[in-house]
Amino acid sequence: MPRRWRRPLIGAAVVGALTLGAASGCTATRSGHGRIASAAGSSGGVATSRSTANPSGASSAASSPPAGARAGACPATYAAPDPNRPRVTLAFTVAPDLTHVSGTEHVVFTPDLPITELVFRLTANTAPTVAQGSSIHVASAVADHNAGPATFSAAGAAGQGGLLRIPFPGTVAAGTTVSTDVTFDLVLGAAGFDRFGRGQGYAWFASAQPLLAWQRGFGWHEEPMLQFSAESATSEAMQTDLTVTAPGADTVIMSGDPSSGSPNPDGSKSWHAGVTDARDVSVAVGPFSVSDTVVNGVALRVGAYSAAVRDALAPEFTRAITELSARFGPFPFPTLSVARLPANGGGIEYPSAILMMSSTRLVAVHETAHQWFYAMVGDSQALHAWLDEAFASFAEQLVNGDPPPASDLDAPGVVDTPTAAYGSGEDSYYFVTYSKGAAALHAARAAAGPDVFDAAVRCYVNANAWRIAEPADLARALAALPAALAVLTKAGALS
Ligand SMILES: [Zn+2]
Repeated sequence: MPRRWRRPLIGAAVVGALTLGAASGCTATRSGHGRIASAAGSSGGVATSRSTANPSGASSAASSPPAGARAGACPATYAAPDPNRPRVTLAFTVAPDLTHVSGTEHVVFTPDLPITELVFRLTANTAPTVAQGSSIHVASAVADHNAGPATFSAAGAAGQGGLLRIPFPGTVAAGTTVSTDVTFDLVLGAAGFDRFGRGQGYAWFASAQPLLAWQRGFGWHEEPMLQFSAESATSEAMQTDLTVTAPGADTVIMSGDPSSGSPNPDGSKSWHAGVTDARDVSVAVGPFSVSDTVVNGVALRVGAYSAAVRDALAPEFTRAITELSARFGPFPFPTLSVARLPANGGGIEYPSAILMMSSTRLVAVHETAHQWFYAMVGDSQALHAWLDEAFASFAEQLVNGDPPPASDLDAPGVVDTPTAAYGSGEDSYYFVTYSKGAAALHAARAAAGPDVFDAAVRCYVNANAWRIAEPADLARALAALPAALAVLTKAGALS
């Protein structure tokens, strides 16, 4: 999730913190930098065990039986991915001048509920993205089972814009496999703190393909597009095959981390990767200075617009992988690809990949923490965004010994609020979802006791790996810790 430049402006307690913290000039959303929190235990030690990531963490975790995981059991390792998860084949071709990208998408999908249509989210048509000059246009969309003509809303469309729909003439039964093919074109606008942009010889795009908007046991996610820059997609972990064709002189930093591109006759290169469980992908193209290291068996690739920036940033990700693995379990993917882009802002997380518009430790740890909270343990970023943002903030604060002020918990706002409900209230969204949510987790940890709370969070992570978690799943994992539940309930996190 992006970290914001601006600090929140709601609540008297926060305004006080703003005054104290503003001089730091950091990219943090919340207050608290340079402050000492009073919450007991909030900067407490690491209670958990594993100190090294398994080099084959994801695949070995896949052998773990998921049975009982959702029933409240505490599996010893990450639950296995759903064998019936969607399969997606994506191909992007970047224009030589980086202004456009053409794409194809093939999806094989077996819904667990009856459906009458396919629904995809067109993230590039979010209003702030369109205002910067980026957008997506669907050129064609077809599906089997006698699907009818597709409809989609154009860039900047009001209301329920941003959805591609492919209707069926009747109901398609649960368990029926559906195949669909979509072609699309992206326009890349000005550089900024967004998942789409280009500048200074670089281009990047993420959530760029029409994203299958399904959640098992729930159905389609059709929430409105947001008025400010934040995530609003919900998608299952998918078996993903990704190919990017880009100018031959450029390096591609993308989900799945291919080490090199294959030359094409026209001088371009194609970069190919497979990711066994990716909810989404990101791609960055440009003359990156790249370093490759291995951290606890995880292949870490860091690309930046200068070697100096790269070399300052790479150790931060080494640290983040190491520290976070010790707390939450093996790094979820065999690779992590980081692209430090020539833009200012924070960072944006994707499965096994991160777009960085900042070089701070805070952002490096926060976005790496999203590999557990969002990429592996998914959530509806539209309905329950705190489940990834508050946890990523909480994890970052634990690792960096930088807990929030306890007063964040007393500020107004219901933590588990749908993102669109904030309207244009960007500052409120970021404060309540990130800052108050993280403060609630710290307070819950202190109330229950750090050791038992950390163990329960590990149960939550293991049980919900490669799924889309709901607040009720967290409540279930914390069921034996009523003091923690009381804190989270009071904050409106479990509503
Ligand atoms: Zn985030």
